[in-house]
Amino acid sequence: MAEKRDYYEVLGVSRNASDSEIKSAYLKLAKKYHPDVNKDPDAPAKFKEASEAYEILKDKDKRARYDQFGFAGVDPQAAGASGAGFGDFSNFGDFGDIFSQFFGGGSRGGARRQTGPVKGNDQVMRIRISFMDAIKGTKVEIPIQYDDACDHCHGSGSEPGSGSETCPHCHGTGTIRTQQRTIFGVMEQQSACPNCHGTGKIIRNKCKKCGGAGYLHVKSKIEVNIPAGIADGEQIRIQGKGLHGYNGGPSGDLYIVVGVQADNSFIRDGNDIHVTIPISVIDLILGTKIVVPTVYGQSDVEIKPGTAVDAILRLRGQGIKARSNYNNNGDQYIHLDVKMPSKLTAEEREALEKVKDIETKKPGNSNVFEKVKSFFKK
Ligand SMILES: [Zn+2]
Ligand SMILES: [Zn+2]
Repeated sequence: MAEKRDYYEVLGVSRNASDSEIKSAYLKLAKKYHPDVNKDPDAPAKFKEASEAYEILKDKDKRARYDQFGFAGVDPQAAGASGAGFGDFSNFGDFGDIFSQFFGGGSRGGARRQTGPVKGNDQVMRIRISFMDAIKGTKVEIPIQYDDACDHCHGSGSEPGSGSETCPHCHGTGTIRTQQRTIFGVMEQQSACPNCHGTGKIIRNKCKKCGGAGYLHVKSKIEVNIPAGIADGEQIRIQGKGLHGYNGGPSGDLYIVVGVQADNSFIRDGNDIHVTIPISVIDLILGTKIVVPTVYGQSDVEIKPGTAVDAILRLRGQGIKARSNYNNNGDQYIHLDVKMPSKLTAEEREALEKVKDIETKKPGNSNVFEKVKSFFKK
């Protein structure tokens, strides 16, 4: 699984490069790799890579999102193709409810004028995992369908040994030119050769296994490693598991968009986790020890006497572990849901009246009861 290159690396600038440094780095690369001037087969890909990096890094918001979330925060391809914003998984059921869709063809879908290799279209697939699996990381086996080079003809489409011939119609160029006289003069048009479908070659004996297509549509399963701490809507790219390329071009990639189910107790905010714990007002006044669930197990937490009803307690480092150097390990925050005693027995009432008496006699002291009362009046 080859990883996409870091945008800063693509442009060859540092993480704290200024806007003008980013711009000039991009312009240099764009000039160097523009497909009109650079005929190297890798040039279009490099040009595209640089353009994509610049699109993100020149935009303050996108750059910030990229710095925080990596490609998942900004990937324009997947976001546009899925038609829905990240995190919008409301229409999906449990894990296993998988479907795939194809990216819009764009320029690849139209008539191909080049005879050079063209990379195939990407596929998107959505999966859904549980909240805890996202925290701890998991492995999932996913049924996939993709195009794989035919192992019989090795992608050539012709029966081994028979070879192919140069298309006589276009003389191997894959394109034909037509001239039309109009009132504006002679117009020349270029289109894909209909005889060889733009490949420039005619297969004499089609491969018996793939019927001359050069690829086979494969159904199989892959095991995907879901890294610990993955966030809802993040995607994992699997190289070469998309649709077939053209003219010997590589297959597209598969993007797995990971949806994360919400949890009943834990709420995630970036790398932080928030929980709300019920506690009686008496425990708040007197202080106590409570057991708080964390995503890693249980943790004993001391509630100090006289803790404020709106206090938020923090368990350092008990949130989600950072996956890159660009953000920090998360913490867990405990919010208190203060419960008032619903019905007092005569005995309890008497005891509390006694406490109140003592409290009111204390001159100018901080009165816990009054504090609690005033909070609930808000
Ligand atoms: Zn074949
Ligand atoms: Zn032809």
